[in-house]
Order: sequence, then C-alpha cells, then structure tokens
Amino acid sequence: MMLPAAFEHRMRTQLGMYYDAFVHALGSESPTSIRLHPQKGYHTDGKNIPWCQQGYYLPARPSFTLDPLLHAGAFYVQEASSMLLEQALRQSVDVTQPLVALDVSAAPGGKSTHLLSLLSHDSLLVSNEVIRSRVSILSENIQKWGHANAVVTQSDPDHFAALAGLFDVIVIDAPCSGEGLFRKDAHAAMEWSVDNARLCSLRQQRIIQSVWPALAEGGVLIYSTCTYNPEENERQLQRLTQAGVAEVVPLALDPAWGVEPREIGYQCYPHRVQGEGFYLAVLRKTKATKPPAVYAKAQKANRLAIEKASAWLRNPQRLSFQEQGDLLLAVPADHQMLISFLSGRLKVVQRGLAVGRLKHDKMIPEHALAVSVEVNKEAFANLHLSYAEAIAYLRKDVLNLAQESKGFALATYQNTPLGWVNLLGSRINNLYPADWRIRMER
Ligand code: SAM
Repeated sequence: MMLPAAFEHRMRTQLGMYYDAFVHALGSESPTSIRLHPQKGYHTDGKNIPWCQQGYYLPARPSFTLDPLLHAGAFYVQEASSMLLEQALRQSVDVTQPLVALDVSAAPGGKSTHLLSLLSHDSLLVSNEVIRSRVSILSENIQKWGHANAVVTQSDPDHFAALAGLFDVIVIDAPCSGEGLFRKDAHAAMEWSVDNARLCSLRQQRIIQSVWPALAEGGVLIYSTCTYNPEENERQLQRLTQAGVAEVVPLALDPAWGVEPREIGYQCYPHRVQGEGFYLAVLRKTKATKPPAVYAKAQKANRLAIEKASAWLRNPQRLSFQEQGDLLLAVPADHQMLISFLSGRLKVVQRGLAVGRLKHDKMIPEHALAVSVEVNKEAFANLHLSYAEAIAYLRKDVLNLAQESKGFALATYQNTPLGWVNLLGSRINNLYPADWRIRMER
C-alpha cells in the first residue's frame, strides 16, 4: 500500500519500532464483524469480540445483502474497534437509569444502534446527522433496529448549543481524516493530505464547542475518530481539560485486547487489535451549565387510533401517541414533552415509532412497526417464509403463496418479522418499502 509521505513520517515517530508491524497489518485482510440485536434472536458461530457482548468476528465475509435477517434489523455489520463504545458507556454511566443521549454525527447509525441496545428502554436517544443525503440511511437503520425511544434529527451541531444541560451523554463520532480506514478503503489513503487533516481538526473543534453547552453537569462526552492524528484526537479534548471544565474518565480495558492508552483516551492500531484504527476518549463535565427552559406541551392523538395501536404494541402503557398528519407515532411517555421541545428547536425527521397511518377510520400498519421490538406479533397473522420466499419478499416480488385468511399479516423469516403483507384471499400484496428492496442482480 502506498502511504502518503507526511503520514508515514508522523506514524514512524508515533510508533517507533512498531511501525513495520503497523504497515504489515495494513497489507493484511480486514476482519469482518457484526453486532447482534439482543432482542431479535440471531445466532452466529463467530468468535465473540471481547469488548462488546453482542459483537462477533465472522470467519469470512458472507453476502450480507442476501441474508433476510440483515433487513429485519437482527444484526448490524460494524467494524470491531468502533464497538469499544460499549466500554466507554458502561464504564462511565449507569445504563440502568433513564438517560437522555445525543449522537451528534450519527449516519449511517452504527453507534446509534449500539447505544439503543445499551441504554435502558426509558432512556431517549437523539440521533443526528447534518448531511442531508446521509439522513435517509440513518433513519432506515434506526427503524430496522426498532426502538421507540429514538428521535432522528438533521441539524447543524450549532443548533444544540441552545439546549443547555439537556443531555446526560453526548457521543461525537467525529468526521475525520480517516487514517484508520486506509486498509478497508483505498480512497481514504488517496484523499488524505496534511491540509485536509487540518480542516478536519478545525471542524471537530467547532462540533465540540457547539454541543458542549448541551451536556449536563456530571454528564459524559464520548469522543471518537477513526484516525491516529493527535491533532484530531487528544488535542481536541485537552482544550476542555485545560480549561478546567472537564475531567478524563479512565477506562479499565483488558491489556490482552491490545488497546493502547494515550495521554487522553485510547487508540486501536490494526497491528495490536483485531480491527481497524480507532480513537476513543471519555470526558466528564465538571462545571455546571444552566438547565433548559420548561418543555412545550405535547398534543394528544385521536382516541380510536390509540386504542387500535395499543393492541398492536407490547408495551402501550410505556408509550404516548402523537399525530403527524395521518401518521400515528408512539414515543416514550416519559419523554413526550422533551420530544416536543426538541421538535421546536431541531429539524426532527423521525421521532419515536411510526405505528400506522389513518385512512378513513382504518389504520394501515407502518413498516417500522413490523421490525420494531415493540410489535405485538400475536395481534397479527404470521406468514412464515422460506429463505427463497423471504428473498423474493425483500426484492418486493409478487408472492404466489396459497393463503385463505385476510388482512394485514407479518411476513416472518425464522420467526423474525421482515415486514407486512396484505392477505387478500386470492392474492397477497407485498408491502415491503420500495426504497429498501434488494436490488442486487440475480
Ligand atoms: N457514527 C457513525 C456510525 O457509527 O455509523 C459514523 C459517523 S462518521 C465517522 C462522521 C459523520 O459526521 C458523517 O456521517 C458525516 O456526514 C458527519 N459530518 C460531516 N460534517 C459534519 C459536521 N460539520 N458536523 C457534524 N457532523 C458532520
């Protein structure tokens, strides 16, 4: 692999005698890894990733697109080093408590889906992505992960500055020079330059400054990048520790994992860890910020729709219903005021769980409900599909299956819901979302 000269020079200084091992690792194959949805019953024979309970290495890279359970949100394909987020969260906050968390640069959703699995159901996650073209994949992945306690926003980090003291946890998985991805992505090395790394560090500084006021006193900032560049890593955080507004939270990481402690935070190198280059640090905010203003009032939804939706959900008592046009949404009851408050200040593109659409006194179930952990599977007929039928369903092909019953039914594969069908007696309407269908050549 041709490495940029300035990068090579810095890494030689940073790694000393280990530089050759680093370059050798860059020439080897990237490990393939996935993180399982803890509530969707996926099984793999892969080897566990020691710092992530649901993380697994796979012996080879399968065709993920042709695994129906990927589309059901039963697992997420994610690089192993970045799963270190789990240690950062578990070791810095009490995850059994209700927490309000922000993932400020969230697309495509690796960290956000991980956070949803780690946080308690009475927590709320605001998953934000400023770049418009990347919001739809984030929203898709959050829907497939299927938690009602998530809000997807598309706001500039600047807009969070006004939400003083609102969040207990803020994750900044910052846009960076991408040095840690040289092995996985040949473009990353070609696009690297000293000037670009400098631009990245300025952008990171702006993001940190913007969201810092939104962190509660005692709350934690989890900062990560996929670069080795100290200017984009520890130097960014030093400004906060030196200003006396934050303290570093040390993590107990098993030395056998190979993660290297830095002056602030931790670095994964591909020659030490079975994963890509990654940096992560946790800071706790030590200086008070004012609490936010009183939340706006949330509006109540149509009673009939609520009754219908309640029967479709496993925990309706935990949820509160809101209408958005003809769409009925379920949001965590404990956070409905907060969500309305956020809606007035951020560009909210998705909040809670979309349950159904009201059409002339009838409720049409939404796809998000089918793949949600909140769905009451017993409230619907289940249409069990074979592997070939599941792939046909996910391609949005016509399903020619003998069926007598009528109405909306859950299409399932290995008992995991993939989406809806409408059984019409003589034929079956395939309701899989057209935008998400498998488009791969046969
Ligand atoms: N957290 C994501 C995950 O785990 O799947 C990956 C995030 S990626 C490292 C960085 C993200 O920052 C990208 O989605 C990018 O669009 C976004 N971004 C780019 N410029 C930004 C800016 N100025 N402020 C905030 N986010 C930005």
